Amino acid sequence: MTTLTGKSVFGGIAIGRISFYKRDQGTIQRRHVEDAGQEIARFEQAKEQAAKELQGLYDKALQEVGEANAAIFEIHQMMLEDLDYLESITNIISTQKVNAEYAVGVTADNFSQMFASMDDAYMQGRAADVKDVSDRIINILSGKTGGEEAVTAPCIIAADDLVPSETVQLDKSMVLGFATMYGSSNSHTAILARTMGIPAVIGLGAALSPAYDGQMAVIDGDNGQIIIDPDEETLAAMEKKQKEQKARKELLLSLRGQDNVTLDGKRIDVFANIGNLSDLGMVLQNDAGGVGLFRSEFLYLESSDYPTEEEQFQVYKTAAMNMAGKKIVIRTLDIGADKQAGYFHLPHEENPAMGMRAIRICLTRPEIFKTQLRALLRASAFGKIAIMFPMITAVKEVKQIKEIVAQVKQELTNEGIPFDQEIEMGIMIETPAAVMVSDQLAKEVDFFSVGTNDLTQYTLAIDRQNQTLDAFYDPRHPAILRMLKMAADNAHAAGIWIGICGELGADLSLTEEFLRMGIDELSVSPGMILPLRQKIRETDLSRLTQK
Ligand code: PEP
Ligand code: MG
Repeated sequence: MTTLTGKSVFGGIAIGRISFYKRDQGTIQRRHVEDAGQEIARFEQAKEQAAKELQGLYDKALQEVGEANAAIFEIHQMMLEDLDYLESITNIISTQKVNAEYAVGVTADNFSQMFASMDDAYMQGRAADVKDVSDRIINILSGKTGGEEAVTAPCIIAADDLVPSETVQLDKSMVLGFATMYGSSNSHTAILARTMGIPAVIGLGAALSPAYDGQMAVIDGDNGQIIIDPDEETLAAMEKKQKEQKARKELLLSLRGQDNVTLDGKRIDVFANIGNLSDLGMVLQNDAGGVGLFRSEFLYLESSDYPTEEEQFQVYKTAAMNMAGKKIVIRTLDIGADKQAGYFHLPHEENPAMGMRAIRICLTRPEIFKTQLRALLRASAFGKIAIMFPMITAVKEVKQIKEIVAQVKQELTNEGIPFDQEIEMGIMIETPAAVMVSDQLAKEVDFFSVGTNDLTQYTLAIDRQNQTLDAFYDPRHPAILRMLKMAADNAHAAGIWIGICGELGADLSLTEEFLRMGIDELSVSPGMILPLRQKIRETDLSRLTQK
């Protein structure tokens, strides 16, 4: 038994034989051609054929994994029209009098090296795409149908890495899971794996040897592992886990695509809470209406230095694109208290939960705040992003925030950088002060989202991190419920929506009460979306109010 650990792209258990993805490794021959013009015409024809194939793949992906994920094949089509790329190929053919396959191969190598050496993670990702597009043309030129062997029995697909067209061409009913040596969690393959809901682990390194081809293995997507040749005990444990997961999933799966509507017709949005991009698969698999809380501070926590604007932009953009038009509420960094990042050099505090955290850091260190706002606004051009600010206690803070946002918007406008001019901006209601002035706050923002975790901490004066106080930490305390009602009434009086993104939102024993308060959105962990939907659909508010 061998256990390899990589990065989880999508959770769940897959059990089956490993099939190493086989490509035609044929090398390209350099041939002399007499008539360069004729060879260029041959290339042009192959290019047209490649464009048709890509259109077919786009249509297939559009049906299977949605518009945002299908977009990669549009990018490939665009690459086919890239003037530098085309000029390089035709130049090589005409100046060196060589065959088109060779010219395309050399150009692909040059361009992919160039992309790979760029600082920008997005551009690095294009290295695989230019190879993918070029291989397609070369295969057409040399009369090959693709090179890869069709997968004929359900198996775990292992590979060095898979390019998007390889992933989408696989017969999904035959794929139990993915395991790759390389690849990034932002790669399109990872995104596709997530969207398809297939257990996947990437970055296993060279230890994932082709010698394992044909061996039994278990992908434990929850732990980012592949267990090759598992012993009986491990296999039995994994089978049990898989069975439990399946049973639970099937029960709830019938609720996918259904409305979050009570028996008497009241609707509510059910969104998901996420901490990073790898959670998005679960969001989509569980059919969330959107993301109600993206805790952006995880980006900062996972980093050893301040994430740059570009790094953040890539993450927010990928998230927005994955959500394909559904709303994604991204919360600005909530560092401090229990979430400490050394490079912020926050001074030691006796009482960090009541200290320099979240918006207080952003307002005292605007350069950090502005970097994040620029990234968020830039990403808003790629989807339906809303920005949310944590730990608000006063109208004054919101006014200050709005001033800074206005400055950043102006800068972007001056630079000609597009962003969503109508971007929604809201605040977390997670301090008693915010509840008490929620009538005034509601006039300043587009929405409220109640953070019941902190609201409980600050209202009941109980450190949420202190386990010994668990018995006293009661988010269902009438004080909290009254505060929720007060904030909801004030939100509605000002015509804005209100959600709950603290853990209490997933407390099914309170769903009816939340509905009656008129809460417009509940944002819960992805795994709670369908149970919550079930609860909502069983609720009859007319009967309850008559009681
Ligand atoms: C909350 O306080 O309820 C909340 C959602 O934010 P966090 O748990 O990240 O503090
Ligand atoms: Mg909070």
